[in-house]
Amino acid sequence: MNRHPVESLSAYVDGELPPDEAAAIEAHLASCTECAREVMQIRSLGGMMREIGPIRPEPKLAERVNRRLARPVGWILFVVGALFWATLAIRDWFREDFTLERLAVTAIVIGLGMLAVSVGYEQYREWRESPYRDIRQ
Ligand SMILES: [Zn+2]
Repeated sequence: MNRHPVESLSAYVDGELPPDEAAAIEAHLASCTECAREVMQIRSLGGMMREIGPIRPEPKLAERVNRRLARPVGWILFVVGALFWATLAIRDWFREDFTLERLAVTAIVIGLGMLAVSVGYEQYREWRESPYRDIRQ
């Protein structure tokens, strides 16, 4: 082996070479201080990498922030805003004279509200009784 087997040194250190290639590199290392030094550097680098260990991101950080903060705050703002808006709307609605049109619209809005509550409650009960509710999708 006349030229320096630079590309194979890392694989040699990791023990990934077939026996005949590894033997050829060992023979080269015995007579080449340059490649022997390279192998030492690769080995010490590998040792440092093993000491540091694999670097992992904080497990599911974004998911945890989303579940613990973004979603509850979003729901609170939504509910508070909707209640405030509904209070103002109801106050304005009953401030003016009552006509038949207003009575009809009031009936429609109350009916829609009751339907929404009924459907929501049904969905909630179905979810409560579902045997799969604890399984994450
Ligand atoms: Zn060499």
